[in-house]
Amino acid sequence: MNLLKLILIILTFFTVSIHAQRDEALEILNDLCADDMYGRGYVKFGHIKAAKYIQEYYKKIKLKSFKKGTYLQPFKIKANTFPNDLEVTVNGITLMEGEDYMLDPASGSANGKFKLEIVDNRSINDFISKLSYSKITNLKGRAIVLNSSTTNNVDTLKIFNDLKIGLSQLYPVIWINNDKFTWSVSKDASEFPIIEIRDSMLQNADSISLKISNHFLNDITTHNVIGKVNGKKNKTIIVSAHYDHLGMMGEAIFPGANDNASGIAMLLSLAKYYSNKTPKYNMVFMAFGAEEVGILGSKYYVEHPYFDLDEIKFVVNLDIMGTGDEGITVVNGVQHKKQFKELSKINQDKNYLAKIKIRGRASNSDHYWFSQLGVPAFFIYTMGGIKAYHDVYDCSATLPLTEFNDLYQLLIDFVDTF
Ligand SMILES: [Zn+2]
Repeated sequence: MNLLKLILIILTFFTVSIHAQRDEALEILNDLCADDMYGRGYVKFGHIKAAKYIQEYYKKIKLKSFKKGTYLQPFKIKANTFPNDLEVTVNGITLMEGEDYMLDPASGSANGKFKLEIVDNRSINDFISKLSYSKITNLKGRAIVLNSSTTNNVDTLKIFNDLKIGLSQLYPVIWINNDKFTWSVSKDASEFPIIEIRDSMLQNADSISLKISNHFLNDITTHNVIGKVNGKKNKTIIVSAHYDHLGMMGEAIFPGANDNASGIAMLLSLAKYYSNKTPKYNMVFMAFGAEEVGILGSKYYVEHPYFDLDEIKFVVNLDIMGTGDEGITVVNGVQHKKQFKELSKINQDKNYLAKIKIRGRASNSDHYWFSQLGVPAFFIYTMGGIKAYHDVYDCSATLPLTEFNDLYQLLIDFVDTF
């Protein structure tokens, strides 16, 4: 065999093995974002199906469990859900949930036709005095349209926001939002719905027909999925990512590809990498539930840990791993300068990512509760590329996983520095 041939064979092998990484991640991504996962929320047991999927993967790669026969750590939450068909009709046109309108996550129920009472920047004072003269009954059978889009005044905007919350206990509220629709999950519910809608949809309309029903789950069991690879030393590195997402709003599914099927794809890829090795430290993989409901899975974990928190050398929390065109941001980089420098140095030496941006504390993902208890933790998220977030467009078909392979290598190299 001549040298050129050998080089070609080595190159082919190298390329194939590198692509295999991202290819398997894409498979995991597609599985977790499939329609039968129902957006990994609290409608049709989407969250349970997702947890079981991760559990099966752990089993397949033979991770150790902390409790006999299960990787699941159960805990209880409250969540407001919309499992039934929804109907919002204006000017004879039935609007599509998630695309033409968005329900506020804390929405209650309403059924019927409602006359529109429009409150904008000019009429807000009159409206408030009408309320304070307790002529509220005049508004019976109405839906209140709050249009704050005509003002930038911070005080007026606050009044609009307070009205939205208060009025939703008495009337359906239509909230004009001409910007991006962003959904989440609520632990509370008001009496009536709050419907976010573009003002163009209401042109020439004097009424709206609603068929909206929420189902408030007061006591639902969800899970963290936790597995382990034993290391040589009795210290632990945790890799974490939340698997839950927003679920469904009526017929609309929120697939949550970037947020955070991508993080789970990375977590499982790393778990697989370490599963046939004996690493220096124990590697514990924590797929957290109920992050979107208020970072509840990781909170429950630190309150009910499987081993002493002092044993943790470092936590690497992964959320939004799907792009990376503009590099990554490292939350807590400011707090852990030494580790941040190590990470940046590897990245420079190996030429992995365009940029590693430093950030201070933030309470925006599962690293938070560890940080609060003094456990050193990074939260890493990718930047650039698609902008879909907490909406129906965050789906696997359009998520590029641009820097997945580089990020995977970077994380392995980073763990090696401990
Ligand atoms: Zn997330």
